[in-house]
Amino acid sequence: MQPTFTIIAPVYNELDNLPILYQRVKEVMDTTGELWELVLIDDGSRDGSTEAIRSLARQDDRIRPVIFARNFGHQIAVTAGLDYSRGKAVVIIDADLQDPPEVILEMIEKWREGYEVVYAVRAEREGETWFKKTTASLFYRIIFKITDVKIPLDTGDFRLMDRKVVNVMNSMREKHRFLRGMSAWVGFKQVGVSYKRAARFAGTTKYPFKKMFKLALNAITGFSYFPLQLATYLGFIAAGLSIITIPIVIAARAWGNETFLGQASTLIAVLFLGGVQLISLGILGEYIGRIYDEVKGRPLYIVSEAPMDELKETSKE
Ligand code: UDP
Ligand code: MG
Repeated sequence: MQPTFTIIAPVYNELDNLPILYQRVKEVMDTTGELWELVLIDDGSRDGSTEAIRSLARQDDRIRPVIFARNFGHQIAVTAGLDYSRGKAVVIIDADLQDPPEVILEMIEKWREGYEVVYAVRAEREGETWFKKTTASLFYRIIFKITDVKIPLDTGDFRLMDRKVVNVMNSMREKHRFLRGMSAWVGFKQVGVSYKRAARFAGTTKYPFKKMFKLALNAITGFSYFPLQLATYLGFIAAGLSIITIPIVIAARAWGNETFLGQASTLIAVLFLGGVQLISLGILGEYIGRIYDEVKGRPLYIVSEAPMDELKETSKE
């Protein structure tokens, strides 16, 4: 039978969080009096989380494990969760309990009022470094400025989506995914609920700076051409500068002023332009690499094991 709610939690080395995650999700979801399922995606864990997920699934058949063949990253793990979800409403939550499961009840209330996407806005963050908070805050504001989609500020992937929205999201098979952007892009009736983001229950972050940076690049390239246009703007600025400075230098020379002599000014001009050109090439490279990944058409993820697999597929494009 179709459950009313699906909870999706991506898991990457979260052994100590799993039992309490299950406990708290169960407590919260049982109060709804509806059928629910918890899809746990094992994103190539190496700390025994995989076995823990299997044993939870043996205990409670509302838990549906999806086990990846390797680590594919958080956004892809959530994507698999969306593919496997069957609920009329689907909630994405982190496995480290930074997103309190109790907030789901507020989301469900909004969903019952008729909202199709209910996203959780972080009013406060606990137990995170100054660096993480500042870069995250800056990131959301830059994205908001330069992208065409108005992605809500300070909002992560913690959200509820109606089946209609999930179906649309599942039809978008882009390789470099920024789910919160995609979920804003689709439209529908959306609303936010604010919550206090807790500290991690156990373990350390699985999002080192490198992964965060990659996510930021995916967000920008996925939703904006601004970096590509940057080369044009810089080109105009450089050309403009030369139009102004060339006559000045010629005139100064003609009047016998020798100030503009020397290698230094030449070197600065060459290095500046060289730098701008290389950066522009790099930006082009970012977009071309992404085009290449799309063209290869590889599956988004590879499932090694999904015991409850009604889809009868090992991988999805
Ligand atoms: N995660 C994942 N694959 C990864 C990295 C993270 O499935 O490659 C999961 C992780 O287990 C957690 C969620 O994504 O449930 C968010 O990660 P984390 O809490 O480390 O990020 P942070 O909250 O520090 O930004
Ligand atoms: Mg976390």
